[in-house]
Amino acid sequence: MSASSVSDLPSYLNPHDPGPWAIYLQQVDRVAPYLGSLAPLVGILKRPKRILVVDVPIRLDDGTMAHFEGYRVQHSLSRGPGKGGVRFHQDVTLSEVMALSAWMSIKSAAVNLPFGGAKGGIRFDPHQYSQAEIERITRRYTSEIHDIIGPHKDIPAPDVNTNAQIMAWMMDTYSMNEGGTNTGVVTGKPVSLGGSLGRIQATGRGVYVIACEAARESGIEIKGARIAIQGFGNVGGTAARLFHDAGAHVVAIYDHTGIVHAERGLNIPALLDHVQKTGGVAGAAGTETLSAQEFWSLPTDILIPAALEGQITEHNADLIHTRILVEGANGPTTPEADDIISAKGTVIVPDVVANAGGVTVSYFEWVQDFSSFFWTEQEINHRLEAMMRAAYAAMSSVARQHGVSLRTAAFIVACTRILEAHHVRGLYP
Ligand code: GLU
Repeated sequence: MSASSVSDLPSYLNPHDPGPWAIYLQQVDRVAPYLGSLAPLVGILKRPKRILVVDVPIRLDDGTMAHFEGYRVQHSLSRGPGKGGVRFHQDVTLSEVMALSAWMSIKSAAVNLPFGGAKGGIRFDPHQYSQAEIERITRRYTSEIHDIIGPHKDIPAPDVNTNAQIMAWMMDTYSMNEGGTNTGVVTGKPVSLGGSLGRIQATGRGVYVIACEAARESGIEIKGARIAIQGFGNVGGTAARLFHDAGAHVVAIYDHTGIVHAERGLNIPALLDHVQKTGGVAGAAGTETLSAQEFWSLPTDILIPAALEGQITEHNADLIHTRILVEGANGPTTPEADDIISAKGTVIVPDVVANAGGVTVSYFEWVQDFSSFFWTEQEINHRLEAMMRAAYAAMSSVARQHGVSLRTAAFIVACTRILEAHHVRGLYP
């Protein structure tokens, strides 16, 4: 970490192991020289505005009581209400939720959505609990963070291991406590409850649109392009299908059950069926198995990490031979790995733009909920594609103008927008 970032570390993080928040601070340090007259305000981005840590006690199915640690972090509310998902994972930490909340501020601003950034999480493995227990955990957590969320304050959404059903329970708990029906308090809800058509596929569709933009700039034809994807859920699965439909060869998929490979391109519709039946890609007919090392070493035109953060590090970055790396997940590439891969001439399309399709359709959902007037899926996809292309163009033009990476360019665009809003609002009191 640079000296300035170390001095910005809050006292509640371990200085010897500050976690993902330290990565975010380094990214902000890289941007500071390009902020012009707004540079003196950069300190506001280096601290979350508000952090809430809650105890989530519930009764388990066997009658005993258990406690879980829950978080909601609001990094910035300068441009609008907080926005960002809630993840359920046994490795969730405060530092991680802080970093993810800051990346939401950057993401919303990079795509020019009228939102700030927030994130939530509960530290537990949902696969170890029944649906009834997960419902009780979700409802108690929602009740504990009730005071700081709301359609005009902070709007949660799905993230790792959370889905439309969890959002329905969050919406219901918030509404019951408020004494009304507030569909706009969360996004990513079921369509039967004010959810938006196209929301589930939105992140994967956005990844596809952004990858097409990057490929066009690099002179790569999508038809016939070799693509490898880590993750085959909402994001990786949707992107794989769209690439397959466009005539690309998706040669390898890596999910939690294994890695499948077909040199001439996987049959993606058949693989999606296989996953539907078995829960993962392992053992799909007509595929061969690869090791993780072999997966990362595959020569490709486009590589898409669309699973968890911290997947590409200084330990596997050397193996990677791809022309474009599109970050479908949040924070999949460490800064050290980013430097190694960029030095080879690979274009890295950063998460804050590449995976912004989800929050973009969350924005559409929030707007539709306010007007109680719902758009067609075609309209949604059309608007999504236009916003993603505009975000890519803004980032790419700043990258050329300053001779910086796409990541730094996205941060320049986003930090400038956030700090401009902060500046015109002025410092209270
Ligand atoms: N969890 C998603 C993300 O990281 C979506 C957040 C949202 O829709 O608010 O972008």
